Amino acid sequence: MKLKPILVFDFDGVIVDGLVEYWNSSREACLQLINKTQTVTDLLPIEIPYEFRALRPWVKNGWEMVLLAAEILRADSLLRTNPNDFANNYKESRDEALNRWGWNPKQLQNGLDNVRKQAILTNKEKWLTSHIAFSGVAERINQLANEETDFAVLTTKSKAFTSELLTYLNLYPQLLYGHESGQKPNLLLEIAKNRPIRGFIEDRRITLEIVINTPGLHSIPCYLATWGYLKPQDVHNLPSGINLLRPENLMSPLANWP
Ligand SMILES: [Mg+2]
Repeated sequence: MKLKPILVFDFDGVIVDGLVEYWNSSREACLQLINKTQTVTDLLPIEIPYEFRALRPWVKNGWEMVLLAAEILRADSLLRTNPNDFANNYKESRDEALNRWGWNPKQLQNGLDNVRKQAILTNKEKWLTSHIAFSGVAERINQLANEETDFAVLTTKSKAFTSELLTYLNLYPQLLYGHESGQKPNLLLEIAKNRPIRGFIEDRRITLEIVINTPGLHSIPCYLATWGYLKPQDVHNLPSGINLLRPENLMSPLANWP
């Protein structure tokens, strides 16, 4: 039997807005890493700090969020004194912060995943509802079956957590890959071996740029989801091969997509 074409979706910033959950979990993971004291706990607010929200479009991996929480604790960190500079030199600022704390990405990712595991065990409903589904996206994805198209989810979250959330959203993708499975371009190459990829929808422009420049992937239609965590300049001067996908495009029949 010939497999149907498949549309591949990023998760956070495309299907759900997970920023509240990211802040809750990163805050807690950070506090656990530095052996929280009451003073420190008070310094990290319950509400999402401006710097954390502002830096979200630059973040690729979950562990970076824990590091951002830690930097928010340091009054003299570049993230506090000049968030724009921190963002403009994101990788350097991030690596410098990592060195300063003496942490490594794996340790931060494990800390984050453990906090999530605990949150799910303690109060699963609360954990699930701290993710806000983007309006109409899950429903639209479920209509793809009427267009003879399957869907996949490719995320830098862990597979187990994403699977919980997808079930909660009533979404059952034919394929699901988390951060354990590897880098998105390699996973797309894997998927493309077995079936045509109808498109890849992502809110991180750099990821899309890597995809269109990866040998074997340049023919995949790439879409930048305008409702996600975009940097202000992301929508301008897109290279050929990457199209803007606005909510009205998503809601229109696949045949009419840019
Ligand atoms: Mg995303």
